[in-house]
Amino acid sequence: MPIKILAENVTNKIAAGEVVENPASVVKELLENAIDASAHTITIRIKGAGRELIEVSDDGDGIARDETSLAITRFATSKISVIEDLQSITSLGFRGEALASIAAVSHMKIQTRAKGEQQGSELICEGGKIKSISGKAFPQGSRFEIRDLFMNIPARLKFLKSDRTERSRIMNMVVLYAIAYPHIRFIVEIEGRAVLQTSGNGDRREVLAEVYDVDTARQMLAVDLNTPKQHIEGFCSPVGITRSNRRDIHFFVNGRLVTDAGLTSALVNAYHSYIMVGRYPIAVIFLTIPPDEVDINIHPSKAEVRFTDARSITGIVARAIRLVLLSSNPAAMPDQNIWGFPNQEQKLIESNGELGSQPTIRNGNWAVNHSLLPDQDNQPGLEMDRFMPLLRVVGQIGATYIVAEGPDGLYLIDQHAAHERILYESMLAKKDQNSVSQLLLEPLMFSPGARHAVIFEEVRERLTQVGFTIEDFGPETYTIRAVPSFMRRNFSLKVISDAIQEISEEGKNAITKEKEEILIRSICKGTAVKGGMILSSQEQEALIRQLELCQNPRTCPHGRPTMIHLTVDMLEKQFGRRGSL
Ligand code: ADP
Ligand code: MG
Repeated sequence: MPIKILAENVTNKIAAGEVVENPASVVKELLENAIDASAHTITIRIKGAGRELIEVSDDGDGIARDETSLAITRFATSKISVIEDLQSITSLGFRGEALASIAAVSHMKIQTRAKGEQQGSELICEGGKIKSISGKAFPQGSRFEIRDLFMNIPARLKFLKSDRTERSRIMNMVVLYAIAYPHIRFIVEIEGRAVLQTSGNGDRREVLAEVYDVDTARQMLAVDLNTPKQHIEGFCSPVGITRSNRRDIHFFVNGRLVTDAGLTSALVNAYHSYIMVGRYPIAVIFLTIPPDEVDINIHPSKAEVRFTDARSITGIVARAIRLVLLSSNPAAMPDQNIWGFPNQEQKLIESNGELGSQPTIRNGNWAVNHSLLPDQDNQPGLEMDRFMPLLRVVGQIGATYIVAEGPDGLYLIDQHAAHERILYESMLAKKDQNSVSQLLLEPLMFSPGARHAVIFEEVRERLTQVGFTIEDFGPETYTIRAVPSFMRRNFSLKVISDAIQEISEEGKNAITKEKEEILIRSICKGTAVKGGMILSSQEQEALIRQLELCQNPRTCPHGRPTMIHLTVDMLEKQFGRRGSL
């Protein structure tokens, strides 16, 4: 055969193969169009599992009378004009392919009236050929009727699954959109039965209750975390609710339902050691990120996306989920607290009132500030590398290191370095001294000595900020009435005099701010649990849980590592289980 350019009715049918796979994908495209048209109510009616009829109507903007036939033309769209628009896109559609593809493989009827227009129009189309366009009176909005889907592609028809499967594909997809768009009222009727009706009042948990059972909906944990550029919210199941596969884990990125293996495994990994191997959580997660950080134009069905910084996105997902799990699992936070690791409740109380612009995580009534923002110093974004996975504590060795298992191998944690990090971050996070101070039963007298009196005066304010109450007593003598609460059990004046000594040696010519930094680091070092101390299993557990909550869990404040990671790969190689030897 000679080379020739295919006729449009042929290319549309070919394109339809990519855009419309089954009735559910038709519903998805029509649904997305209705959402893009700012609909308040979307009604979906299905007959014959979508083979006989798919009807989607909305009360959105409608299509202008003279554009109705354009709507079903391939690459005709009102949503972008130049390729650069893709970088700032907020609509779900942009390819202008869906209606053309659907029209090519079905009998389609469009009834629509645009906002501000007197008369509406009706378009009837069979297998991509327009049969009639006429002016008619319709309410504002659009109504699409798709009959006899795939009537002209028998091969596609043959690949459809049973009615039950096709129906549940439709339903599974629609409910996700109902959860994603709680401000839109969804009414779904399948084979004459009303199967879903949401109120459109914006309450996501209420939609969850429509979708799952009331009990599950109530138990689902709310995920809600902000960083300067990213926002993540949604729901994930508590550890008691699991599935045998990953199919109930869903992600929306900027309002778009996407499948992304990286996001899914980040979420699953966050559950590591919380649920049994082979079990998976349920989750619907909504990510909002700058549009130019995600490429949505990967595939005609728009189900796959590519992130400019995938690690930062999977990082925030892992972190958000882990924090929700940690806050919802008091068992993971033993109150046995002899080293003064602040327990979760304490953290909650102490952080109240200083949420401000800090990222927050909400869970029921709790508003927790975990100070998730990267340190002010130099870290531009959240990175996976700086986090640690959830660990299962195995035990302590040499009274100095904690052995733990993660999703990707073995971890050895230096208990002293780890505790230093924990104390350091909790001291940096605390400004409101009342909430973190512990009054001493007996006030202590402190004299820095003539040589160090000036340094002490210089850093005194900072000591007050982290929870010390210091009063003048006499010349170069002070009374210490209260100490930071994490020091209450093992406070000794030596910690302060050592810190002052360190400043006088290390930071002689430093500015006040640097001296304060040395002070804080030194106090952490002096207060942290030492190597050589036997920790109970609860204490080991508490230490690891607290470390997980740190912004920079992998290094101590002095920059030394808190942990050594032996990957599964390394272990297998060493044991000659894999690779060449
Ligand atoms: P895309 O959504 O990628 O633009 P479609 O083929 O899905 O392409 O739709 C083509 C055009 O038809 C849209 O750009 C929009 O202008 C119009 N349209 C489709 N559905 C609706 C609707 N429900 N309400 C208003 N306009 C619609
Ligand atoms: Mg579309």
